[in-house]
Amino acid sequence: MHQAGILGESFSDAKEYGWHVRNDGHNWNKMVTSIQDHIGSLNFGYRTALRDNGVTYLNAFGSFIDAHTLAATKKNGKIETMTANRILIAVGGRPSYLDVPGAEECCITSDDIFSLPEAPGRTLCVGASYISLETAGFLTALGYDTTVAIRSIPLRGFDTEIAEKIVGYMERHGTKFMRDSQPCAFEKRAGGKIAVKVKNTVFGNEFETEFDTVILAVGRHAVTAGLNLGAAGVRVNPRNGKIPCVDEVTNISHIYAVGDVLDMRQELTPVAIKAGVNLVNRIFSGGSIKMDYDLVPTTVFTPIEYGCIGMSEELAIETFGDENVEIYQSYFKPLEWAVNHVEHDGVAHREDNACYAKLITNLADDERVVGFHYVGPNAGEVTQGYAVAMKMGAKKSDFDGTVGIHPTVSEEFTILSITKRSGVDATKRGC
Ligand code: NDP
Repeated sequence: MHQAGILGESFSDAKEYGWHVRNDGHNWNKMVTSIQDHIGSLNFGYRTALRDNGVTYLNAFGSFIDAHTLAATKKNGKIETMTANRILIAVGGRPSYLDVPGAEECCITSDDIFSLPEAPGRTLCVGASYISLETAGFLTALGYDTTVAIRSIPLRGFDTEIAEKIVGYMERHGTKFMRDSQPCAFEKRAGGKIAVKVKNTVFGNEFETEFDTVILAVGRHAVTAGLNLGAAGVRVNPRNGKIPCVDEVTNISHIYAVGDVLDMRQELTPVAIKAGVNLVNRIFSGGSIKMDYDLVPTTVFTPIEYGCIGMSEELAIETFGDENVEIYQSYFKPLEWAVNHVEHDGVAHREDNACYAKLITNLADDERVVGFHYVGPNAGEVTQGYAVAMKMGAKKSDFDGTVGIHPTVSEEFTILSITKRSGVDATKRGC
């Protein structure tokens, strides 16, 4: 869906590059069908791969009977009991609902949006992290009137300065934001509209507004509740139902866990996959490599994407002290954005200096790079390779000693010279 949004925005670029393109609007149903077809083919591929590798696949709901025995309940209610020497828990998480009147009856979650049969219309996205901002971004780009309700800060845990840059960019390109806003009740109205009662978290006043669709993106919870983990003696964190582990091993030595069920670990699919592969190699193939949860690169796929590795500016300062932290920064515009036109309200379709590169180094450790932040197109592609460099302990001098590929956005990281401390303007004027 993000890609659908990006393609929509490219229509305007294509015209500036001389293409005779006619934008006849977007067909929600066609997009959803294509996505569902793709998901279907992925599922088929996984099942085939399991079969080819001699894995028995059982479509059933599992729960523990004791530390070596599981009950598997199938759709038709039939229960099969099975025993195993070792058991891996990888049940993941599901989106959470708000515990307020009407939430379950009136709202959908990010899991539903991919199969939503009707176009969402005027939409409210509740929450201010990855899922909410990504969803609001592509819905805006697809032409839907979209609002985000933020109760505190956007993208908690990420670099604060960059989180605000992303919100600012989205705002200028059509997404609406309700700050300090906490929805506290939902009600279905005649004609299918949803009335949302919103409380201002600063002043305490309440107001009501209406939407066609409300998407809750207020975090995900681990689905450990039905597993009867107590019967196996597996401990969970009572606060969030997640499983504390040391190197993916639970407190029961033959029961393991990977993925979103792990307490205090990133909720990211590639993290789960890497941890699982390392774990299985350690158990069965004499491997010794443990999962390293540090310096995990990630990308937020908002309309202007954001890739990052390591520490935010505030965490680096808190960890090493202000005097030991050097911040290199640069604002720029990709060459492919050079042709341009003015959108609505006088905002350029492709703004000057909307993209941003920030490297954070530790002066007390020979300028080792401790934080990498990139805002701009293809952030996942730009960020991935730098993650290898940072895992290898790259210093600022290694970045400086690397020859850039011209004309790319990624080369910006090989020529960073302006520090925040210097106060010098880091925006670009020429090429
Ligand atoms: P997160 O847990 O990251 O964020 C939850 C958001 O909802 C926060 O903004 C939080 O605000 C807000 N919130 C929580 N409770 C309430 C409430 N009662 N009322 C109003 N707002 C509330 O959740 P997401 O759903 O965005 O994402 C789940 C996970 O999925 C993430 O950890 C992420 O790693 C993963 N993910 C990764 C993607 C990627 O790699 N591109 C894409 C999508 C998801 P506050 O800050 O005030 O607590």
